[in-house]
Amino acid sequence: MKTKKKYGQHFLINVGIKEKIVQAIIDHVPFKENLLEIGPGEGVITKYLVKEDYKLKVCEIDPDMVEIIKRDIPELKEDQIVFGDAVRMDTNIFFDKEVFHLVGNFPYNVSSQLLFMMYENKEQIPTMIGMFQKEVADRVVAPPGSKTYGILSVLLQAYYDCKRLFLVSPGSFNPPPKVDSAVILLTRNKTKNLSCDEVLFKRVVKMAFSQRRKMLRNTLRSLLTEELQQKEIYTKRPEHLSVQDFIDITTEIEKSKQ
Ligand code: SAH
Repeated sequence: MKTKKKYGQHFLINVGIKEKIVQAIIDHVPFKENLLEIGPGEGVITKYLVKEDYKLKVCEIDPDMVEIIKRDIPELKEDQIVFGDAVRMDTNIFFDKEVFHLVGNFPYNVSSQLLFMMYENKEQIPTMIGMFQKEVADRVVAPPGSKTYGILSVLLQAYYDCKRLFLVSPGSFNPPPKVDSAVILLTRNKTKNLSCDEVLFKRVVKMAFSQRRKMLRNTLRSLLTEELQQKEIYTKRPEHLSVQDFIDITTEIEKSKQ
């Protein structure tokens, strides 16, 4: 079977890794709940999940893969397979408005889009366990002060506890990708709403990291009153602010505008 580059196809061949992923899912996703696997491919993870007591659906963009899983996994019923581009779909397609957990050895070409989709639908997605290229995984779990701490880290960590579970080497896939990979676990935290305006929060975070080497008082200038510009925190670079710092400055900016 020829793999398709445009769909980011790297199939897992390492049995130990498949089992570790499935075990992580069983450990963190309660049985009987809705579970969505994006990019099942030939179904190497799906064939384990279908045997567990989940309400499972899979979403796959490649019609050839859909044929393969239909043929090879008879337990998987027609209405459990959603054919199409997962990142362009309304998330209500999968389980209506119900909550669902998200898992997969995800296609790397849409990693950021997938993570933003999660952020936008955080009330619907309490858990995510997924394989990403290591560099993206690092960005998600990065603590403040680290080189990879950025927009995705702040936005996702505001709502999720983000943890790296394990690393996966290129040789675990066919064809092997050029990069290392990592499986991460995101669990929705207790924050219902941030104590600040969320739209402004997102804007502040994105502006602050648009030039990460610069001080906040430069990148955020258009949002800051003269008085705020004098404050010490705005002489910092974005990578040195915690999620709470970003919430605090957003609140401060909001107040200064009133
Ligand atoms: N889970 C399988 C396959 C991983 S490769 C395994 O571990 O072996 C990534 C899979 O995602 C491929 O099957 C690819 O066709 C599919 N895919 C790529 N882009 C997609 C998208 N936008 N929506 C849904 N599936 C996608």
